[in-house]
Amino acid sequence: MSTQSLYPVSPELAGSTKLNDEQYRKMYQESIVNPEGFWREHGQRISWFKDFTKVRKTSFDDHNLFIKWFYDGTLNASYNCLDRHLEKRGDQTAIIWEGDDASEQRTLTYTELHTEVCRFANALKSQGVRRGDVVTIYMPMVPEAAVAMLACARIGAIHSVIFGGFSPDSIASRVNDGQSKVIITADEGVRGGRVIPLKANIDTALESPDVTTIEKVIVLKRTGNEAVKHVEGRDIWWHDLMALSSEHCEAREMDAEDPLFILYTSGSTGKPKGVLHTTGGYMVYASMTHEYVFDYRDVEVYWCTADVGWITGHSYMVYGPLANGATILMHEGVPNYPGPSRLAEMIDRHKVNILYTAPTLIRALMAQGKEHFDQLDGSTLRIMGSVGEPINPEAWRWYYEVVGKSRCPIVDTWWQTETGGCLITPLPGATDLKPGSATRPFFGVQPALVDNLGNLIEGPGEGNLVLLDSWPGQMRSVYGDHERFVLTYFKTFRGMYFTGDGAKRDEDGYYWITGRVDDVINVSGHRLGTAEIESALVAHPDVAEAAVVGYPHDIKGQGIYAYVTLNQGVEQTEELRQQLRQWVRNEIGALASPDLVQWAPGLPKTRSGKIMRRFLRKIAADEVGALGDSSTLADPSVLDSLIDTRLNRA
Ligand code: ATP
Ligand code: MG
Repeated sequence: MSTQSLYPVSPELAGSTKLNDEQYRKMYQESIVNPEGFWREHGQRISWFKDFTKVRKTSFDDHNLFIKWFYDGTLNASYNCLDRHLEKRGDQTAIIWEGDDASEQRTLTYTELHTEVCRFANALKSQGVRRGDVVTIYMPMVPEAAVAMLACARIGAIHSVIFGGFSPDSIASRVNDGQSKVIITADEGVRGGRVIPLKANIDTALESPDVTTIEKVIVLKRTGNEAVKHVEGRDIWWHDLMALSSEHCEAREMDAEDPLFILYTSGSTGKPKGVLHTTGGYMVYASMTHEYVFDYRDVEVYWCTADVGWITGHSYMVYGPLANGATILMHEGVPNYPGPSRLAEMIDRHKVNILYTAPTLIRALMAQGKEHFDQLDGSTLRIMGSVGEPINPEAWRWYYEVVGKSRCPIVDTWWQTETGGCLITPLPGATDLKPGSATRPFFGVQPALVDNLGNLIEGPGEGNLVLLDSWPGQMRSVYGDHERFVLTYFKTFRGMYFTGDGAKRDEDGYYWITGRVDDVINVSGHRLGTAEIESALVAHPDVAEAAVVGYPHDIKGQGIYAYVTLNQGVEQTEELRQQLRQWVRNEIGALASPDLVQWAPGLPKTRSGKIMRRFLRKIAADEVGALGDSSTLADPSVLDSLIDTRLNRA
């Protein structure tokens, strides 16, 4: 495979996309020099009931913090995703759904989706849900998950979606956090061939004496398992409610700054934060980034593999694409089940034009070999995206060559639950690509690097990634804990939003995310980001995945401890271990060479697929007693086996 490090906009692509480099620069410049005018114009991309006259009022001063966008306008998010499309695209497919088992297929047109949402909105009203109430959604990846979200938005209720993989304890704490009265769930979900006992998890969560607010549980019949418990008076079937509900429901006029949803961060660095997003700014930002970042064209088929339980599922499966009238592909299961060729099959079966996925999936597919893509036609595919973690250059090239057939630009989008939409990202046809770099800021976004004292770093350099000014999709608060909001994001560096990530900026002004600031390793006074060392390891032909952390070292301050997952069929030998240490030495330098290399059959990941280095740090330090909040850990057995085989024992 090539080790090319610059992928200029190809001649075929240049001029065929929405923007070229010159247009990007011009628009970006305008968005910074004249934000009022810029956002006044682009705020019109969504439909307002009452147009806004005030564009923004924002300040990052921790003593006088406010973030308001389009704040005298009124609108409805569900109206923007549905009603406004009906005249032009009522018969266009809004959702193509494929079951975990590919023999199950469904489609819904915009008209059908609108009808379902109106019905369910009335159903919610019949259960006493009012404007401003929090509704918990704990659903499998079925169209009804989107219906439930949009129905809440339609009547002004605030949804709080909990990923279907979370345990009863996590459900209980989130329900309490939001004081929610109603839960929407399904009898069971199906994912990767396994049945997920959604309703049983809800039942267990509600048995906890701490949960006192829930009055109703609405249950969708997905698998129809008769054994699923039904609590009289509390539980109601989705289909029974729908049968009684009218299909007419006006979308409620909401203020731009009325809450749209609460959503929890992935919990990679600690206890998840309940992020609050509001309506107007979020809708403008989600739809605008969806259009420009993916160069979305009318009636294209767009596939985002994220679950609705994550921000990516909110902004780039539901709100952004539907506001833009796209046809979305929704998949119930995981894209490498029942085998690694599922992704390729689905791209061809549904003629996917735009694919958005995560590095964790790409690395998993890579480990299983590119032959699973031999049958991929892939001729419809045009743009591919990545999100969630830094994408290792080797994984980037594999994605580019094997999935995109060296034809499709990759947009490596850096953003957070907190940011509502992409902040640093290439734009197809406008940005020359460098594998591993999220490249340049989106319109209106002002990233900067600061040292630990908060001094701005000019030109090429490395530091803490901050944002100097607000953008419309920014979170407004931590739900129920505004103090935590101010403390987490605005106290570290005065007058700036602190992302928690570290980054480098190169001579072209491109940003490279180096990893979480908390994960930076300090070897003999030199600061090393985790991303670079991990990428060097992943570039070795035998390595599938790697996670690197620091551990206390008598001489160097910190030593480097690497957890390495090998490709399928590769043997774990002492020789390979030495080879890997030498390999990193050659790729980066002696300083970055791991002191210890532990073989890891699996790495601890969040349920959204991110490596959780905070646990790995504890194992490397031989502190395996109190590991901290593990509620967001996908598979606890991975951790147990790493603890058992740890290398640095006292
Ligand atoms: P928590 O905040 O609870 O610790 P989290 O930060 O993993 O969890 P998310 O909001 O899901 O929760 O993830 C945002 C983070 O993911 C970013 O701060 C960044 O560290 C990482 N990230 C997302 N996209 C990219 C990307 N394209 N390149 C590098 N890192 C990325
Ligand atoms: Mg975070």
